[in-house]
Amino acid sequence: MVDWSGGNDTGPRPCKDAIWICVVRNGRAESPVYLRNRVLAEEWLANLITGEQHARRRLCIGFDFPFGYPVGFARALAGTDDPLVVWDWFEAHIQDSPKANNRFDLAGEINQRFGGQGPFWTNALKHDIAGLPRTKATYQNPFPDRRAVEHLAKGSFTCWQLAGAGAVGSQVMMGMAVLARLRRRFADQIAVWPFQPLEKPVAFVEIWPSSTVGPAPEGMIKDAWQVQQVALGLARRPAAKLTMQLDIEAPEEGWILGIEQENRTISPPPLRNDCFALPAGIAWTPVDEALDLLRQRLNPVTGEDRQAVVKSMGRVLAEDVVARRSNPPHPNTAVDGYGFAGAFPDGEHVLPLVSGRAAAGAPFDGQVPKGSAIRILTGAVLPQGVDTVILQEDVTAQSDRIAFRGPLKAGANTRKAGEDIVGGDTALKAGRVLTPADLALLSAIGVSEVAVRKPLRVAVISTGDELIEPGAEPALGQIFDANRPMLLAMVDRFGFTPIDMGCVADDREALRAALDQAAQKADVILTSGGASAGDEDHVSSLLTDAGAMQRWRIAVKPGRPLALGMWKNVPVFGLPGNPVAALVCTLVFARPAMKVLAGSEWREPQGYNLPAAFSKRKKPGRREYLRARLRDGQVEAFASEGSGRISGLSWAEGLVELEDGARDIQPGDPVRFIPYDSFGL
Ligand code: AMP
Ligand code: MG
Repeated sequence: MVDWSGGNDTGPRPCKDAIWICVVRNGRAESPVYLRNRVLAEEWLANLITGEQHARRRLCIGFDFPFGYPVGFARALAGTDDPLVVWDWFEAHIQDSPKANNRFDLAGEINQRFGGQGPFWTNALKHDIAGLPRTKATYQNPFPDRRAVEHLAKGSFTCWQLAGAGAVGSQVMMGMAVLARLRRRFADQIAVWPFQPLEKPVAFVEIWPSSTVGPAPEGMIKDAWQVQQVALGLARRPAAKLTMQLDIEAPEEGWILGIEQENRTISPPPLRNDCFALPAGIAWTPVDEALDLLRQRLNPVTGEDRQAVVKSMGRVLAEDVVARRSNPPHPNTAVDGYGFAGAFPDGEHVLPLVSGRAAAGAPFDGQVPKGSAIRILTGAVLPQGVDTVILQEDVTAQSDRIAFRGPLKAGANTRKAGEDIVGGDTALKAGRVLTPADLALLSAIGVSEVAVRKPLRVAVISTGDELIEPGAEPALGQIFDANRPMLLAMVDRFGFTPIDMGCVADDREALRAALDQAAQKADVILTSGGASAGDEDHVSSLLTDAGAMQRWRIAVKPGRPLALGMWKNVPVFGLPGNPVAALVCTLVFARPAMKVLAGSEWREPQGYNLPAAFSKRKKPGRREYLRARLRDGQVEAFASEGSGRISGLSWAEGLVELEDGARDIQPGDPVRFIPYDSFGL
């Protein structure tokens, strides 16, 4: 990433408002490079491109100036709408050397073609230039003031303003000339975004660092910090998101990478229709293999939102969060006491007290002389001359001096700057489901707003002719719908948005209508019942007809075949009707899959090996889950394994997971207990 400059040579010493370049490779940032003028920068970039080409690596170079002028200027200046012709025009007309260039004169000349009062304005030189207004008083712009993207980029400057704090106009002129030369030098190797398809080994893109990067950490030059952060940010951006951001139409004016184009809904790419296909020829898929497949095939489907940190509890981070500053930002004291320069050896010590004190939020701004002490309170920034603090309880204090006993190590009772987190480090990663503690961390590093994913919307449908709503009067053979309340509540507990789609009879058309409606409202559909291969198993037969159904025969008990399919681009998990199997399948398969769809990180449920309070024999070849709970450090299993025994689900506080192989469990043998908590319940 390149932080460009429109000015003259900035001297041998690295400084701000100069050209800075930072390279990131494989996610790692190299030290930002300082280049004192454009001639050197052009050579440096040419070398970089040559080097990367020899290494057969591709290269994306970002420049922080507009690649095009507001609409209409290209045609008026160069007789075509093609912004790259404008680049060539400037290349032909700009005279540039480290000490001097003709940018203001050229701007005046251009203005004179259009009446001499615009589009360019401001003149940083002492002498007046014909046609170039110094102020807005006589300024008249025949072209739009801003590009479309600049209306969306709050705080951006127009490219017509040539000088003054923050102005970008000079950079554009001087930059276009250099880029035009690089393009010629590496003919057919460079694609310029968004004007050309990105099908070349090198891409030029437009960036705007100040839009996304916070203040630099102490001691680092702002420009260097910015290019580094932008380069890292871009390298870490998920491919799907970058693809969306690159999909921009701005053929004449160009665009700033990362600014979202209006009236384009930014949503992740849809799932592949065959995402649930199983490898051919497999009879029973082991649980772990099934989970691996789900993990590989699925991708996040939820869009993004910005959210105030205080309102982001439970939301999924859409981007890594980088600490805007260190915590603590300054060295400070961890206790109430007295501060001085340490260390002190064994024995008694008496130190004079300086007047004044240092407290949290009320720093002492003087210097504490060596051999003196100062009153200091927890959280106070260590004053100059203080690196060690003694606890007030260990001190005899008078108004003008203190006495205490050594030894005391240098640095005792203090906190170092950045000992918790260093500014610029990644504090939380994309995919993190935010916890209350995370909100504290984000706030401590100065973050008030985060990019989060929209919550995953999950529709729940029960199927079966026998089902009626609790409270209704049952006829013979009817039962109350128990799965739907359970599944809706589970979805809610997982942090998703449940959508109740009611109960549907075993009727193809009714079910089709319900699936249609659910696909409109939700990102995922959970059905229960009708998922096997019987006459009344309409969920699986409808999905099969839709051409995107897979019956997963997973080697697991409880749980009959799980029907996984796509209905109008929305994934459907066809859960078994038996409530016990429905719950287990949801915890073991649907939840992790939904977490991927929701954009959150994949994590195995945490289990604990604990002694069994039961005995059980199990055949090899499938994994089994028992309803279980923990009492007195031992794992109890529910007496019956019947898959319709809902009371056992309610009795249980977790599941025992018995591995795929054979087991002969005796009381006292260790078994893996996974509390419902670990499954997010
Ligand atoms: P199915 O998968 O449709 O063959 O159903 C398997 C068993 O689960 C049958 O005994 C159903 O009556 C029962 N069942 C299906 N759906 C529900 C539900 N929503 N609530 C309670 N039991 C159900
Ligand atoms: Mg049924």
